[in-house]
Amino acid sequence: MARADLDGRSIKPLTICMIGAGGFIGSHLCEKLMAETPHKVLALDVYSDKIRHLLEPESLAWAGRIQFHRINIKHDSRLEGLIKMADLTINLAAICTPADYNTRPLDTIYSNFIDALPVVKYCSENNKRLIHFSTCEVYGKTIGSFLPKDSPLRQDPAYYVLKEDASPCIFGPIEKQRWSYACAKQLIERLIYAEGAENGLEFTIVRPFNWIGPRMDFIPGIDGPSEGVPRVLACFSNALLRREQLKLVDGGQSQRTFIYIKDAIEAVLLMIENPERANGHIFNVGNPNNEVTVRQLAEMMTQIYSKVSGEAALDVPTIDVSSKEFYGEGYDDSDKRIPDMTIINRQLGWDPKTSLWDLLEATLTYQHRTYAEAIKKAMSRPVAS
Ligand code: NAD
Ligand code: UDP
Repeated sequence: MARADLDGRSIKPLTICMIGAGGFIGSHLCEKLMAETPHKVLALDVYSDKIRHLLEPESLAWAGRIQFHRINIKHDSRLEGLIKMADLTINLAAICTPADYNTRPLDTIYSNFIDALPVVKYCSENNKRLIHFSTCEVYGKTIGSFLPKDSPLRQDPAYYVLKEDASPCIFGPIEKQRWSYACAKQLIERLIYAEGAENGLEFTIVRPFNWIGPRMDFIPGIDGPSEGVPRVLACFSNALLRREQLKLVDGGQSQRTFIYIKDAIEAVLLMIENPERANGHIFNVGNPNNEVTVRQLAEMMTQIYSKVSGEAALDVPTIDVSSKEFYGEGYDDSDKRIPDMTIINRQLGWDPKTSLWDLLEATLTYQHRTYAEAIKKAMSRPVAS
């Protein structure tokens, strides 16, 4: 598998220490690296369910190129040794479900800031390259959200498009604990940036804008806690699978741009294989063409699920809930997230491809195939009295 970078130079096989490799993004990145590149992965996580198909059976074509290490990076002395063995470290490990930000703010801050510190330190001290996963949430709210509701400036992209090197980070007050995650991610970004400036750390920071697709999060009561609240794709999938109404938080007026995980992984592979173009940069990775309100997302998912499952939709498919009822005290929301694509386009020539309709159809087909039977069985079981 001879591979060339964007400047035509041949790429030598790398060893990658991937922390959080057992999660949603990690599982897709491992799959891509095994199927299409000669690179080796040291896969670190506390869970391996989402990459089991890549680890077993040992007769797989890439056996020997992926090694799983069950490690909690909070307290494991093997971490530095594994970072030293690799050419590049990719850190994906985090608590990153909004339901946790206001209800488990300490765990959220420790996970996203404190636990990432040794990773940055070991990379810096050992002169190892780092690709760190941050979030689009570091932008917080748009400037436009503070304008009067009827201001024509709200339609001006200068007031809402999010640019890596120009937009401010605007969070709510401390009592809105929702922002504990964004704030921890912002501080680790600043620390990594400073390690680059003062100590020469070679780094790339990724800001994902709502990457979605198969294997994202969990379906409550099936492969995750029945009281757990995953991100919106899994919440809505769960409701559709159970023939329940989709819950719209505070009217479902917030806007998001969704990108297909497989498009986004292409961007990450370009960063891995083009260090000279990616080092020292912060990249938005999203699809500005796929914007919807959460209400529109619910309507679209309802329509598509009905098509892939062959089941008629409910007469009233959605229900409004308050954020306090759904997430508890201290929730707040990002109003709108449109990524500026100038930097990633210029550095890596990357653009997203998949439309929202197509990515939802592929994802809901997967959700139906994977979970419909298990849900039916779980729902037909008598409830313990
Ligand atoms: P995920 O929860 O599926 O994956 C994170 C993985 O990290 C999990 O498998 C978890 O077990 C592991 N992990 C957490 N703490 C760990 C620890 N102490 N030791 C070892 N492993 C640990 O989430 P994801 O969607 O794959 O996100 C990956 C990264 O991307 C996160 O940093 C997240 O903040 C960022 N991100 C993702 C999105 C998105 O759209 N999916 C959006 C913004 C930011
Ligand atoms: N949301 C919703 N119903 C749900 C789950 C989420 O209306 O069942 C909303 C949530 O309030 C937010 C948006 O959907 O406005 C996206 O939420 P998600 O958890 O995916 O993460 P975010 O994009 O906020 O980081």
